[in-house]
Amino acid sequence: MSENRENGKCIFCDIIDGKAPGFRVYEDEDVFACLDKFPITAGHTLVMPKMHVAALVDLPDQAVGRMFGVSKIIGRAFYRMKYTGVNYFVNEGSDAGQVIFHVHCHVIPRMTSDGLDFRVRRSRMTESEMSEAASRIRSELEKIVEG
Ligand SMILES: [Zn+2]
Repeated sequence: MSENRENGKCIFCDIIDGKAPGFRVYEDEDVFACLDKFPITAGHTLVMPKMHVAALVDLPDQAVGRMFGVSKIIGRAFYRMKYTGVNYFVNEGSDAGQVIFHVHCHVIPRMTSDGLDFRVRRSRMTESEMSEAASRIRSELEKIVEG
């Protein structure tokens, strides 16, 4: 479980292994979930595979499924607690806001009055820009599927 850890240390692996404190909310053979130490809303939970992998793109499909499956169940718990919405998201890479390089899904309970707004300014693209962007993505996907 320690392979791929940068500098041999990973705070999430330490929490999973019980070597660092964390407020556990769920654990099974493959998945661990605990409260975020710096929550966006009260109850903000992090769901992670026990396997140390930095990025979602490198996580085996089965582990991706398990991580999101548990995230969904935590979302159900939030609805039972009378929250009215849930954000689920993964930050990948420092440019995308990833801070701890052990893949994890943020599960954030929401309600009308929480004052949080994830909506950001959107851009517009022309038809030809959209067509070119879609074409480039399809082309890269074909290489991945073929490769
Ligand atoms: Zn780790």
